[in-house]
Amino acid sequence: MTLHATQTHDSLGDALAAPDSCFAETVTEIEHYTDGLFRFRMTRPASFRFRSGEFVMIGLPGTAPVFRAYSIASPNWDDTLEFYSIKVPGGPLTERLQHIRPGDTIWMRRKPTGTLVIDALVPGRQLWMFATGTGIAPFASIIRDPESYEKFDRLILVQGCRHVAELAYARGLGASLGDDPLVGAFAAGRLQLITATTREDSAMTGRLTSCLADGRLETAADATLDPATDRAMICGSMAMLNDMREALQARGFVEGSNARPADFVIEKAFVG
Ligand SMILES: Cc1cc2nc3c(=O)[nH]c(=O)nc-3n(C[C@H](O)[C@H](O)[C@H](O)COP(=O)(O)OP(=O)(O)OC[C@H]3O[C@@H](n4cnc5c(N)ncnc54)[C@H](O)[C@@H]3O)c2cc1C
Repeated sequence: MTLHATQTHDSLGDALAAPDSCFAETVTEIEHYTDGLFRFRMTRPASFRFRSGEFVMIGLPGTAPVFRAYSIASPNWDDTLEFYSIKVPGGPLTERLQHIRPGDTIWMRRKPTGTLVIDALVPGRQLWMFATGTGIAPFASIIRDPESYEKFDRLILVQGCRHVAELAYARGLGASLGDDPLVGAFAAGRLQLITATTREDSAMTGRLTSCLADGRLETAADATLDPATDRAMICGSMAMLNDMREALQARGFVEGSNARPADFVIEKAFVG
């Protein structure tokens, strides 16, 4: 179900003035996928600039607001900002955030940051993006940025989840990109989405690192993950980051950063 800004409701305590360190933005659209996942859009401050793949801190208005890191899922040219979120039972932010409605206010700190940016990679021909769960959010930004297609011949987005229903956001992205007037033509034939599940059978079943180790990922992509030509980005749980980092290093990939671009970069999708 998608809710749009024309629908109103009792707002979530947005009468407070935002601190100077924050923008106060208005929720315009919400879509719930499962009991644990949703996405929303909000207005974008005119002065707010970011690089596709970066994250910001967001919170809800309150006298002691809780701020959490969120990857911006929309690309840097977009008029509005999209976020893709988990709903953690009892979570200090998401227990409330999951109930936002169009017209509500979100506070957003002014400075974006992050390592999942194309500038942190040396030039290559293919860009692989490995995500588990909400770790797909920064890649939703990158695959919708025309610059990604100027820098790489091919983009391969790989998402692992527990259940098939959790792949809905990725599948929606793939479907909507084809019709996108700005990026659709760039992405045609050059973006591939590969999904895998761990707790339910699907076209590919197993952890991403297992699917890489036994060759299924490269077969599905019809490509070899090779540091001579390929670059990679990883966003997920600590366990996935560590395992995938090891797998890439074993193939000769060198980890990079904003200060020292190299073959691959990583970022935690959450703390804990
Ligand atoms: C760099 C960075 C970028 C992030 N980007 C996103 C994003 O785009 N979307 C998003 O939903 N979250 C993202 N997170 C996580 C986010 O900051 C919050 O942790 C999350 O919104 C839950 O907030 P909370 O206050 O409800 O619970 P918290 O107290 O923050 O979390 C409680 C517990 O829930 C689990 N958890 C938290 N977030 C996740 C998650 N995303 N996936 C799986 N388990 C989780 C962890 O075990 C954590 O200890 C990001 C975190 C970091 C560090």
